[in-house]
Amino acid sequence: MSLRGSSDAEKRNIETMLNLIFFGPPGVGKGTQAARVAKFYNLIHVSTGEILREEIRLQTDLGMKVKDVMARGELVSDDLLIELLENTCAKHKGARGFVFDGFPRTLRQAEALDEMMKRQNCKVAKVIALDVPEEELLRRLVNRAIEQGRTDDTVEVIKNRLIIYQNYTKPLIDFYKKQGIFVGVPGVGTIEDVFSSLCTVIDNRY
Ligand code: ADP
Repeated sequence: MSLRGSSDAEKRNIETMLNLIFFGPPGVGKGTQAARVAKFYNLIHVSTGEILREEIRLQTDLGMKVKDVMARGELVSDDLLIELLENTCAKHKGARGFVFDGFPRTLRQAEALDEMMKRQNCKVAKVIALDVPEEELLRRLVNRAIEQGRTDDTVEVIKNRLIIYQNYTKPLIDFYKKQGIFVGVPGVGTIEDVFSSLCTVIDNRY
């Protein structure tokens, strides 16, 4: 392929790909909405929590490594997560774009994602935060614990996950505000209401 050909292809990449980050504390509804948005816009939904839970279920080496850390509600190491993300995205070359759900959770992960995007000549179009009051978050998390029996959904662990969110993940809001791509959407109301607010934000992206 000629050099000119490849630069045209790269240009198409940045113009046509749609990459979104779903941001917010545990229980905010990122997973539900990220899955719907991905389906609607024909994007790949990358939920790092789901991928890790599947590794645990399959008892892979990675699964065994992260099992205890996840059960305590702590963060898995940046190195493992960054590698996992790069491998996952590499499996979907040619995708229309990605919806990242649960990643990045630390500044190092955010920087690694930016570098990865630059290498592929893409960018993150928007970082969308779902806003839900704290009491509602706790209520949802406790309900999910009862319904799904996730080992990281006990009250103690839920509290730990919320503290970790405050300390490590929330500071990313400033990182993305500086890039001018951070936007908040109300996360209360029906699933349909939230989805339609999200579509409004996504469709006005230029
Ligand atoms: P929730 O949707 O409730 O916020 P997730 O399903 O995204 O939770 O993640 C569950 C757990 O998986 C986290 O508490 C953490 O232990 C691990 N994990 C998922 N994504 C990451 C990440 N980007 N960095 C570090 N740990 C992660």
